[in-house]
Amino acid sequence: MADLYVGVDLGGTNIKAGLLDPSARVIASQSIPTKAEGGPDVVIDRICRIICQTAELGGVKLADVAAVGVGSPGTMDIPAGVVLDPPNLPGWKDVPLIARISAQVGVRCVLENDANAAAWGEFWAGAGREVDSLVMFTLGTGIGGGIIVDGRVLHGASSCGGEVGHMQIVEDGRRCGCGRRGCLEAYASASATAARAIEALADRKVQSTLRQYYGAGQRLTSRHVYEQAVAGDALAMRIFDGTARYLAMGMMNLSMIVDPERFVLAGGMIAAGDFLLDPVRRYFKQMAFERPAENTQIVYATLGNNAGFIGAAGVAMKAVSGT
Ligand SMILES: [Zn+2]
Repeated sequence: MADLYVGVDLGGTNIKAGLLDPSARVIASQSIPTKAEGGPDVVIDRICRIICQTAELGGVKLADVAAVGVGSPGTMDIPAGVVLDPPNLPGWKDVPLIARISAQVGVRCVLENDANAAAWGEFWAGAGREVDSLVMFTLGTGIGGGIIVDGRVLHGASSCGGEVGHMQIVEDGRRCGCGRRGCLEAYASASATAARAIEALADRKVQSTLRQYYGAGQRLTSRHVYEQAVAGDALAMRIFDGTARYLAMGMMNLSMIVDPERFVLAGGMIAAGDFLLDPVRRYFKQMAFERPAENTQIVYATLGNNAGFIGAAGVAMKAVSGT
C-alpha cells in the first residue's frame, strides 16, 4: 500500500477532491457538481465516484490509497462518522456518511467538519506551517472557523468546537443564520458587511457612493463596500472599519482562551489585502493583553479553495499515523 491520501471537500454546490502524498503535494484534483437536490444517496454515490476518479487521475489504484478524509458541512458526530443535519444538503438527517463511503470504496475513511478541515489544510500545508497553534476564520456568507492547539484540531465533546463565527459579540444583536442573535458572523462575514451597508442606506438622508448599488434589482456586496471605502466614501469606510473591529474583537476573545500563535483569515474578503489586515491588526493590538498583542500574528490563508480537500487528506493521514 502506498502512502497516499484522498481528501474530499463536500459542499452544497460542488464536491472537490484531491490525491496527496505525505508532504502535502497535490498529485491530482478535481471538482464536480454536488447535485444536492438528489438527496444523500445521489450525493454519496458522487463522493465515491470522485474518490475513484481522483485516484485514477493520479495514476494509482484505490488499493494504493491509505485513507480518505471527508470534510462535510453541518452538524455532525465526528467520532461516529455521522452527519446530523446539514442546512445546505436537503434530505440529510443522521446519515452514516463514513460507514457508507468506506463500504462502497473499500478504503478507510474519516470525517471532519469542513471548516476544521480547511484550518487543518492551512496548518499542514499553508499559512500555518511553522506554528503549533492557530485559529482560522473563513469569511463568506457566514464565518467558518477552526481551532488547532498543540497540533490537534479542537472538536469538543459534541463535535461543535471551533465554531468561532457563532461567538456572541453583541447581546440581543443582529439575527444570525444559526437562529441566535449577536454572533460574530452576523457582523463581520462578507454577507453581514454588505447587509450593514444596506441597512445604513435605508436612511434616505445618508449620502454615499454605495447608493449606485442599492435599490430594486441591485445586489450590493462586500466587494462594493471595500471598493468605495478605498475610494474614500465615508459610509463605506465606516462599515468596512466596523468589520475589521468586530473581527479583532472575535480574535481578542479567542486570544484570552486559546492564545494561538497565529490567526489566519480566509475567504473572498481577503482580496482587500492590507486594507483589511492593517485595521484588524491595529484593533487587536488595542484590545488584547500585552503579550499576545505583541506576539500574535494575523495573516491571510494561502491555499484558497483547495484548503478544504488538502486538509481533509491531512486529517486522513493523521488518523492513519495514529498521532
Ligand atoms: Zn450564529
